[in-house]
Parts: sequence; C-alpha cells; structure tokens
Amino acid sequence: MTDYDEDDLLEIIEDDEADQQKSPELFWKILIIDDDEEVHRATLFALNKTELLGRSLKMLHAYSAAEARNVLSAEEDVAVILLDVVMEHNEAGLELVSVIRDKLKLDEVRIILRTGQPGYAPETEVITEYDINDYRSKSELTQTRLVTSLVSALRSYQQIKTISNSRKGLAQIIEATSDLLSRNGLNHFASGIITQLSSFFSMSLDGLIAVRRQENETTDHIKIIAAGDRYQNLINHELNELHDNHIEKLIQQALLSGQSVMEKHEAVLYFAGKEQSIAAYVTADGEIPRPEQDILHLFCQNIGMCSDNLALVDHLHDQIYIDQTTGLSNRNQFVENFQKNFEKDKVSKSLIVINIDHFNSIVETIGARRSSQILQSFGQRLAEKFQSDEVAVARLGGDIFSMVGPDEAIDPVKIQDIFESPLPVGDMSIPVSITMGVAPLSKTDDYVTAISAAYSALKKAKFHHRGGYYTYSEEMSQDLTQRVNILNSLRDALKADEFYLVYQPQLDLKTDKVIGLETLIRWVNNKGEFIAPSVFIPIAENSGMIQAIGRWVFENSCKNLARLHQQGFEDISISVNVSAAQLKDPKFISFVESTLQAFNVEARYVDIEITETLAMEDIEYCISIIDGLKQVGVHVSLDDFGTGYSSLAYLQRMNLDRIKVDRSFVMQIGQSLTSERIIRSIINLGKQLELDILAEGIETADQESFLKNVNCDSAQGYRFAKPMDYESLLQWLNK
Ligand code: C2E
Ligand code: MG
Ligand code: MG
Repeated sequence: MTDYDEDDLLEIIEDDEADQQKSPELFWKILIIDDDEEVHRATLFALNKTELLGRSLKMLHAYSAAEARNVLSAEEDVAVILLDVVMEHNEAGLELVSVIRDKLKLDEVRIILRTGQPGYAPETEVITEYDINDYRSKSELTQTRLVTSLVSALRSYQQIKTISNSRKGLAQIIEATSDLLSRNGLNHFASGIITQLSSFFSMSLDGLIAVRRQENETTDHIKIIAAGDRYQNLINHELNELHDNHIEKLIQQALLSGQSVMEKHEAVLYFAGKEQSIAAYVTADGEIPRPEQDILHLFCQNIGMCSDNLALVDHLHDQIYIDQTTGLSNRNQFVENFQKNFEKDKVSKSLIVINIDHFNSIVETIGARRSSQILQSFGQRLAEKFQSDEVAVARLGGDIFSMVGPDEAIDPVKIQDIFESPLPVGDMSIPVSITMGVAPLSKTDDYVTAISAAYSALKKAKFHHRGGYYTYSEEMSQDLTQRVNILNSLRDALKADEFYLVYQPQLDLKTDKVIGLETLIRWVNNKGEFIAPSVFIPIAENSGMIQAIGRWVFENSCKNLARLHQQGFEDISISVNVSAAQLKDPKFISFVESTLQAFNVEARYVDIEITETLAMEDIEYCISIIDGLKQVGVHVSLDDFGTGYSSLAYLQRMNLDRIKVDRSFVMQIGQSLTSERIIRSIINLGKQLELDILAEGIETADQESFLKNVNCDSAQGYRFAKPMDYESLLQWLNK
C-alpha cells in the first residue's frame, strides 16, 4: 500500500464517484485546443472552480487539430471549444472548424477562436459560415473577458440544445402517436406506451401500465393492463395485487394528482383521457433523464388523447371486424387473420366451414325476429366449446360459420356432437343440425384456395351428406382445374354455335296427351366433348355468362315453339329453365315480353322454371319477380321441389302455377315409404294451393301407376320420352 493517508483516499474515491454519477447536464464540457501547453494551464487557472450558468466546468484538452478530432469523436455534448487558430500551420485552426461543422456534423458546439497574432483574424464570411461565436486575441482574454465570452457561448449552446431536444422530442411524440393509434385494443396500446417511453427517454425501461376508469370513485379499482418483463404476470390484475407499497403509492399519487412523478430511477407518467386515466410506471437501471417539462407534458397529453381515440378506434374496429349479432369475428377479421397465420403449422391444421341446415325453415317456424337469437346461441356454443388461443371461430355471413385450428382440436365429429342437444333460443329449445366442409390446409396452396376448398367441400356435403361433412380432396382440385378449363371454352361456345336445344315432352297423366315440352340446353365443345348442363350451368352462373346463354335459350325456345305451333301442334306449351342470376337482371321481365312479341308467341304457352333452392335464397325478391312474370302472362313453375326446403308460408305467397316434384323422390317409389309419403303430401299441398303437380324423372311403369293413383297431374321422364332435338321431336310427336 502506498503512503496515501485515509482522507486523501476518501477524497479520490468520492471524486471518482461524483464524477461518474454526474449526468452531462450537470457540467459543461469545454475543450481547449492549443499547441501551446502554457495556454492550457493559463485557461485552467483563469477558470479554476468557476461555475457558469449553474454548472461546473469540465475541461478537455487537445494539443493539435488531429488530437482535437479524436476528442470530439469520443466525447459527446462538448459545449464550447476554445480554439487556437494557428497551430501546425496558419490555417490549421480554421481547417479544423470546417471539419467540426462539415465532417463531424457538430452543429451545436459553440466555438471561440483565439489567436496569438492579431493579424490572423479570419474573414467575416468564415465566421458566419462556420457559426463561430467569438474571435479574440489571446492577450485580450483576461479572466473576466474569457468568462463573459464563455457565458454567452454557453447560453447560446443551451438554447440550441433545448431547441434540438424539443425537436427530437416532438418527432418522438409524433412517432409515438402514430404508433399508438395503429394499435388495436387497450392492451396493445398500453404495451406500446412502454416501448414509446423507452425510446422517448432513450433508455431501456421496464414497468407497467395502470388504468383507472373515471367512474370509479376510489383509487382501489386501478387495473394493470400491460407490463414489461418484470411485471408480466400482473397483467389484468388489480394494482394492489402488486404487493409493492412504494410503487402503488407512486401510481396512486399520479392518478389522483393528475401529474407525472419523476424520481431518480423511476417515474410515473400520467396520461389523462376522457374515458379513463392511465399511469405508466417505469423503472430503469440508470438514472432517468429529465426531459424538458413542456415536451414531457406534450408527450403525456398526446398519449392521453390517443387513449381517447382508442375508444373510438376500438369502436370502429368492432364495426369492421366483429360480427354484431354473435360477437364473433366477422368475415373481414377472419380472412385477415387466416391470411396472416396461414403458413404457421399448415401441416396439421384445417379450415372448417359450418352451415346450419334448413336455416330458412327454422326462421320461418320460430319467427324472423328470433333468427338472430339462433345465430347468437349457435355462435356462442361454438365459441364456448372450441375457441382458444389455437382455434379461431368466426361468422362468415348468413348461417355460415368457420373454424381454423389444429386437426385434433376441431374434429368435425366433435363439432357435430356439440349440437346433439338443442339450442336455447329465448324460452325455447331449437334442435339444429349442421353440414360442414373441411379443408386440410396442407392440401391447399394459400388462404384463398383454402377458403374456396372449404366452401366447395361444404357444397358437396350439402348435396350428398346433408347433416354430415365432406373433406376437400385432391380430386376436388382436379374438379377445379376442369372447371377452369370449362370456363375458358365456355367463353366462345355461344359465338361458335356449340349449343343446341333438346326438348323433353311433358304428359297429362289423366289423358296421356302431350301438354308441354321442357327445353334443355346441350353443349358439345370444340373438341367434340359432350358437357352436361349440370356441369357447365353452375359455371356459367358464377361467371355471369348465364345471362347471354339464358337469352339464347329463351329466344330459341320461343322461335321453335312458334314453328311447332305453325306445324300443327297448337296446344303445346314450352318450359324454359331460368337461373337466379337471370332473374336478378332488372331487364329480365321486359326481355321476356319483347321476345314473346318478336316471335309472335302467346305468353300463356310459356312456362318459366325456377329451381326451388334458388327461389329460397332471396324469397322476397323471388315473390316480386314471379308477380312481374305473371303480369306478362307467362306461367311459373317451381323446379326440383323437395330439395330446397321451402316453407309453406312462402309457397302460399309465391304466385306459382306448378310444382315439379324432384326426380329423387320419384326414383324411390316402391322402395321408400318416406318418399312415397312425401310425394303424397306434396300432391295434397298442391291441390290445396290450387297448383298443378308435375313429377319428374319417371322411368318405370310402377312409378307411373303410383303417380296416377295419387292423382298427380302430369309427368315427364324417360318412360315417355328422352329429351330430343327438334327434328326427332317432330317425328315423335307425329307418331
Ligand atoms: P331440370 O330442369 O330439373 O331438368 C331435368 C333433368 O332431368 C334434365 O337433365 C333431364 O334430361 C333429366 N331427366 C328427365 N327425365 C329423366 C329420367 O327419366 N331419368 C333421368 N335419369 N333423368 C331425366 P339435364 O338436361 O342434364 O339438365 C340438368 C339440369 O340443368 C336441369 O335440371 C336444369 O336445372 C339445368 N338446365 C338444363 N338446361 C338449362 C337451360 O337451358 N337453362 C338453365 N338455366 N338451366 C338448364
Ligand atoms: Mg327444369
Ligand atoms: Mg327438375
């Protein structure tokens, strides 16, 4: 041990500590640049123990321009440079100034030039260009002069610093505002505040955000809504569960006084909002710098404002992303999240779309007012049983819901199971069944194909396994390619004259006389392939091409009907199939009217067939269009009856002429008592509503006699005739 005495040692340690703890604001850094050792010593002597503008001075030294560059690169916040003009050479000092301003980009530091030789005064332009504060000859700089000169330099340094800090602060406030406004939900917003505060104070902060709703009079209901690492497990807990009296007090103090509290290593910032006030408690390992009061105030005010906007944003967000009936995510949110997370664990996840069976009929039974209650109750049960961090549940629209999640979590059989027991709807219990389409994400390329895969699986399930589910397969994707090919060749089919019409006779079962003909379209494409209407009609419907095709069918049907009437078959009517898309065309009725005129066909000989499923999709519209058609004088039939679950009430309101019993029931005659019973009740119903009943797809004598027995009015099927082209039809009629 050397011979320091104890006091000396203590002083050194204290000095050292004091030095380390002093933040840059507590002293001014003054750099003396001079090649003359004596000038350094004299300056130190002149400024010994001087305090200027409330702070002591910390002197730094450099003996050449090169050395000065090093010091300036290493030291931050040098306030003033006392610079010798003539060093290595006459211009060395001025060259250094240009380096300081242009290369090192130190704009804030103030420079006082000193020279031994009065003749070396720099040009005025140089002084202004390089923003030099003062120019003095060394002999002029007596102690007082030096101090005055330094004070004025420090004052301007201080001002420049304040302005530039404010500017940085403002930039940060703007950044924080836009960041915070983009956050959805109070918790995201709150955790954003900690991040923004860290960047505001340029240091890493840990802490927590507490919110106090103003409706609570007491401070006890302060809730922690976000937290950094240290307080993570306290999110959504009451403040007093923190079990730290000191922090709790600080937060309460801020929330009650409406003011931020700044301590050395911790701070509570207060943000006032209309709906709630928020306090951010932050703590750091080092000392938290004190920002300008005004800037801090502005920062806090802005965050408070953001939190008010947040309420608004939350509301808007809900409108955009939340289904108002069920409270589940809506289609927007679902698609957005699905897209975002698509690649994650794609291998073992599936998308399931879930459809409530016969929703329209249920609504009809229990009343439209209750329909949203069913949806609510349905969505609630799905969410209760399945929604989790892993499984997302949404309502895509109408009576279609969706779920995405790991296969083992959303097994369709399990989904089916939860609807074994009826749904509570008000004081009723309504049994429901569901049909699902499942798309394993591994079998699809992206979120769009996944969604359409799930929908096509649902469509297939509805057709073949109502009340069950269908899983999308590669085969179906081949179907898809085929459909795309069909779509492409369909575009030119009309121009290339690839369509033709066939006619299937309809007979009166009492007289066995032909009463009408159903027009059916046929297509042989340019490769000579026959494509069934059940394949291409849906594609034409989805692509809008059905409009042109439908017009062609109707015109040619009318044209040939006129020909037929001229050829002596005056009593025969024609039935033309019309798609929903055609009906939706506002010009459809006037098109029908003008076509009848053009071909000189009486309206009463024309029957328009609307499929039941289509009619049920938009009942009110359908009712009005039927009325319009009836005014023109044409007849209207409901095709494929029994497959679309029409309700009786609607049937009464639809001004129909005829119901066509679907082939699927006729096929079961002699095999299924249920089908036979259905046919009987459809016929009874028709009689009550004074509708004509036509049975489709009669192939056997047994079917024919059964239908005759139950008083079915008319029939159509291979038993009587297959659809034929015009020439064959003429021959057949003449026989
Ligand atoms: P749809 O209107 O129910 O037509 C009856 C379908 O059953 C026709 O099939 C017909 O050929 C078939 N069929 C008739 N009798 C029998 C029978 O005894 N046994 C069997 N197995 N089938 C029989 P097609 O021509 O393939 O038409 C299928 C569907 O395509 C039609 O069903 C109709 O919805 C639609 N469609 C056909 N032509 C047109 C059209 O010009 N426009 C529109 N929009 N749709 C059409
Ligand atoms: Mg038809
Ligand atoms: Mg039919």
